[in-house]
Amino acid sequence: MTIKSTLAGSALAIAISANAMTSTNNIDKPFEYVVDRFADIEVLRYKVPGFEQLSLNQKKLVYYLTQAAIYGRDILWDQNNRYNLQLRPLLEAVYTNYNGSREDPQFKAFELYLKQVWFGNGIHHHYSMDKFIPGFDRSFLEGEVKKLPADKQPANLEDLMRVVFDPSFMAKKVNQAEGADLILTSATNLYEGVTQKEVEDYYAAIKDTTDLTPISYGLNARVAKVDGKVTEQTYHLGGLYSEAIAKIVENLEEAAKYAENDAQRKTIEALIKYYRSGDLKDFDTYSILWVDDTDSQVDFINGFIESYDDPLGMTGNWESIVNFKNLDASHRTEVISSNAQWFESHSPVDPRFRKDEVKGVTAKVITAAILAGDSYPATPIGINLPNANWIRATHGSKSVTIENITQAYDEASHGDGFNDEFVPDQQMRELMDKYLFLTDNLHTDLHECLGHASGRLLPGVDPDALKAYGSALEEARADLFALYYLADPKLIELGLIDSPEAYKAQYYKYILNGLMTQLMRIEPGKDVEEAHMRNRKLIAEWALEKGKADNVIEVYKADGKTYIRINDYEKLRDLFGQLLYEIQRIKSEGDYDAGCALVETYGVKVDPTLHKEILDRYAHLSIAPYKGFVNPVYTPVLGADGEIVDINISYGEGYMDQMLRYGRDYSTLGK
Ligand code: ZN
Repeated sequence: MTIKSTLAGSALAIAISANAMTSTNNIDKPFEYVVDRFADIEVLRYKVPGFEQLSLNQKKLVYYLTQAAIYGRDILWDQNNRYNLQLRPLLEAVYTNYNGSREDPQFKAFELYLKQVWFGNGIHHHYSMDKFIPGFDRSFLEGEVKKLPADKQPANLEDLMRVVFDPSFMAKKVNQAEGADLILTSATNLYEGVTQKEVEDYYAAIKDTTDLTPISYGLNARVAKVDGKVTEQTYHLGGLYSEAIAKIVENLEEAAKYAENDAQRKTIEALIKYYRSGDLKDFDTYSILWVDDTDSQVDFINGFIESYDDPLGMTGNWESIVNFKNLDASHRTEVISSNAQWFESHSPVDPRFRKDEVKGVTAKVITAAILAGDSYPATPIGINLPNANWIRATHGSKSVTIENITQAYDEASHGDGFNDEFVPDQQMRELMDKYLFLTDNLHTDLHECLGHASGRLLPGVDPDALKAYGSALEEARADLFALYYLADPKLIELGLIDSPEAYKAQYYKYILNGLMTQLMRIEPGKDVEEAHMRNRKLIAEWALEKGKADNVIEVYKADGKTYIRINDYEKLRDLFGQLLYEIQRIKSEGDYDAGCALVETYGVKVDPTLHKEILDRYAHLSIAPYKGFVNPVYTPVLGADGEIVDINISYGEGYMDQMLRYGRDYSTLGK
């Protein structure tokens, strides 16, 4: 499971002076966090502090893991839509071949579209799931395609034109609207020619519900109808995506040579075995080795992991993050995880749904070295894996906070005008300035390393029982756990925070975001669909309604603008505890109807008047609703005999340059 940022940073290019490490080749230049800005997107870059202090072996390990990460890129593009890998090289060829005026409005609109497609890893928006609407004419694109050399001319130009220009064709990457056939109305390439019912029947027939250690059904497979039969097409070497997987495996094999210890080497080898076989039992073996390896400093995820983009929540999007432990900051999460049992035993849920014994929650603060696949350019700020419930119950889980990413968000957002616009109370602003970076990080730590890991299902309850609502409710459960404990004196006792007031900054920001400011990510007339956003709205709206009698949260108007005030923080904490109690019950009992009612009542529908107001206020601030990152560039430094003597890291690459380079050097599945 992942956690995504709620932060909204600045549109202005902010240069922070180089007080921390910058690349060795531009040491005197300030570090520029903001790389690009277009549509609703701001692209940032992040620092990788500590990379230069790694040993040479660790650097080589990181290097080959980053190669294994970038080589998986095309897999995600193909998973997202079956036309993506035909369209991307065509658009890139048109872009690089273009020799007209760069100021031509048609060209500028084309360039914008290409930037959006890159950011979405395909033709759909990464968050809203809507297809991008081109601002240029069909005749412009057709004319430019005609100028391309013969070997770059697509055979199915007519199809591709429909993909780009017909807004009703494949309009939505993932449809979650209740009542529709979620597979037929979703444009992802995880299914082909099958209905939702056929897929559900297929898995119902092969799922062994008595198995206490079930595989993650469907995690690494596309489901298609072949010769009239519903069939799983497995992603593995020799199967679907074989060419990309071959490059991943090749680089993992290199990485294994530089493993820090035996446990890590065995973990990498187990992942290779799984990529070769495609057998989900091998994936479980790998996951157990991975979660047990807590001694290594360098770590990574690489594979088909999160299933948020599968309308049925089964197939994993390909992603990779390579990272290493931030030893200083990890003290914080070590304190939290070593007290995991205390938090579990005191959590405000029915004792029947608590874990008697919390196993091996390991939490650390990491520094990301590369973001890839579904974690690029938009990226999570925290991760808790593995996802398989039985592995979590018996082996625990690894939970991370990616602090160099949260740091970049934070640095880039200073002075963006957000607080002036939405936080009228000067005292609250000061509290937020003082504590929000810490409480945001603590929230992520608590969400990932305790929240997701807490609680248990009653025996016999299907972990997928909440179906399309499962993701939003699971995120709500983890958020509520974090919110509830942020206000607990235990955090002061543990030395994690020095003020009994600090949590108020987080509560205020959370309610403000859930009720109001996150709406800036939604287009007018649309509902809230993404799981993390539904979760935040659900929690905030529920607390608003249930606290009405006591006026816990007040929504008020001043000068025609809507603001919030929290009148009773302690009662708000109680409400968070009550909602956690109910959502834990829903999860533990698999109560689909109650889960559906909660999400549909509080998490989905948008008030159009308030929505318009929020969009207008944001428009004045010109803060980008979404952010993502370019990666640093790692370059081996060769010695006299051609051996690697160092790995150089540099930060200068721009957004378009990086995308074009990845397209040129890391295409594995192009058709
Ligand atoms: Zn989460």
